[in-house]
Amino acid sequence: MRIGIGYDIHRLVEGRPLILGGVNIPFAKGPLGHSDGDVLIHAVCDAILGAIGEEDIGSKFPDTDPEYKDASSCDFLRCVNQIMGEKGFSVHNLDCIVIAEEPRVGPYREEIIDSISSILGVTPNKVNIKAKTSEKMGDIGEGNAIAAQAVVLLAEK
Ligand SMILES: [Zn+2]
Repeated sequence: MRIGIGYDIHRLVEGRPLILGGVNIPFAKGPLGHSDGDVLIHAVCDAILGAIGEEDIGSKFPDTDPEYKDASSCDFLRCVNQIMGEKGFSVHNLDCIVIAEEPRVGPYREEIIDSISSILGVTPNKVNIKAKTSEKMGDIGEGNAIAAQAVVLLAEK
């Protein structure tokens, strides 16, 4: 068994799509980022990379590389999933928190779980997503940022 933790935060700005866990969520703002800025997928990637002792997502997919401009973060997770598989591990379970004042993530929870679990090739009951606000405090509370945390447990195949 290996455990890993991931965290990510992005600025929220007008005119960018909000994509969370690979799911497009209708909202006036979206994360600023070189890729699509999918904060949840980035946290999940870092949790898995951490668990298998690899460098973080920023080292694997540098934001200075034009290849990753507006890249779908789902492709990052597919790549990370492959590296994990080659190292002989699979996801035992994944637990995540999305922290945002708006929008409400709850209505999209099942869709996000389906999206992430299908990329990882595991059943949806191995993935959990929780949503929190920041109680109107700080940048997240003012609606200027969105963050995510992920903890993953990997099993040897
Ligand atoms: Zn990110």
